[in-house]
Amino acid sequence: MLIASLAIYYSSANLRRHDFNNLLKSRAESVARLVLDSYEYNTNLILRSGTGNPAKLQDEKFLILTLDKDILYTTDKNWEFKEINTIIGQVRAGKDVFYKHNSYDVLGTLHRTGLYEFVVIGAAIDKDGHLHMKKLRIVLMVVCLVSLISFFVVGWFFSGRALKPISDIVSNVEDISITSLNLRVPEGVGNDEIGRLAKTFNKMLERLETSFGMQKSFIANASHELRTPLTSINGQIEVLMMKDRSTEEYRNTLGSVLEDIKSLIDLSNRLILVARTSSEGPSGYNNKIRIDEIIWQAQEEMKKFNPSYHISISLDNSVTDSEKIIVAGDEYLLKTAVTNLIENACKYSSDNSVFIKFGREDKWVKVVFEDKGIGIPEEDIRKILEPFYRSTNAVTIPGSGIGLSLVNQIVKNHNGSIDITSKLSEGTRITLQLPALT
Ligand code: ADP
Repeated sequence: MLIASLAIYYSSANLRRHDFNNLLKSRAESVARLVLDSYEYNTNLILRSGTGNPAKLQDEKFLILTLDKDILYTTDKNWEFKEINTIIGQVRAGKDVFYKHNSYDVLGTLHRTGLYEFVVIGAAIDKDGHLHMKKLRIVLMVVCLVSLISFFVVGWFFSGRALKPISDIVSNVEDISITSLNLRVPEGVGNDEIGRLAKTFNKMLERLETSFGMQKSFIANASHELRTPLTSINGQIEVLMMKDRSTEEYRNTLGSVLEDIKSLIDLSNRLILVARTSSEGPSGYNNKIRIDEIIWQAQEEMKKFNPSYHISISLDNSVTDSEKIIVAGDEYLLKTAVTNLIENACKYSSDNSVFIKFGREDKWVKVVFEDKGIGIPEEDIRKILEPFYRSTNAVTIPGSGIGLSLVNQIVKNHNGSIDITSKLSEGTRITLQLPALT
């Protein structure tokens, strides 16, 4: 607005000056003609020539000089020109001179009469022009001021309206803390950027709430699992120390305490592994691991751990070359996953047997663990990978519920997948898929 107003004002001022200078020049020329052509230097005549003349300018004054600065004619005897030399110099060079002196617009021009040349200086006040300019100034200033105020008010109103959803979100977010992760920010009705931001933020809150909930239940479950064997150890020792016991009784109780301690160590080892694998995330393991070797080693270990386990292993026809079943991975973690699945299959089936089949499918190395055990209820299958989740039909069989979630984490870290299909009282089939190296 300011730039536009300044442009309007200066172009109008130029126009006024230009028009007035033209008027002044034609008036000066007519005065000069009248004076010089009639050879009659009569002020009264000149003044009379201006009276009632519509071309007469306000407060006009004229001065006619020879090029040697001799004054031939003046309408104002007290008129003094300090710039006379400059004017004569420029006029001689053939240029008209225009400039402003106080409120007067002044013109210097050359007038020729026959062979003679004269300098004509005219001055007048453009009262109407100045009045118009003053009015224009006031109008522009008022327009600028009014627009500024209306821009401010309208801008303030609309920006307030536009930013309201954001300030709503901000005040809602300020109320959200770890203890109130269930709160959500208003999503609004539209599908604009702010609505999308609020929806994304709510989704993030949902994920945070789930993961905080999982952490809470993980800690609660872990403490519970650790406390059970510790309470049992405590009870057994207290009973043992009530009176003197026979060597046989000491041996039996210590054997049972040892069992509890072993299960405690086993649980802590698994918890440490869960913590390690989940903090590592999907990693770029560099070691080349042959899956068949891992399975054979796991079979050896599990047979030592429980000789009643029957582990049969078969190789898929698809594997013609041992290179085809190599994966990039961590040997210890992969063996832990395989032993956990062998143990589960044997533990949850009355014949303590597992059938392992491995092979290659497209870019995947596949390992299938099949048993004819108690099976997993359908509604439990999707929860079974959560830490400490145990299905109802398995509560009589010892276990902590951490094994499958550890297997899942290990498989995820190897960019693989796990698939469980099961039928209650018929058996379970767990399939691992890991990306093949070649
Ligand atoms: P745990 O065996 O120590 O309870 P897991 O995490 O290994 O812990 O298994 C979680 C649950 O999944 C088990 O409690 C059991 O209910 C079920 N489950 C796992 N493997 C099998 C299986 N082969 N057959 C039947 N149920 C199984």
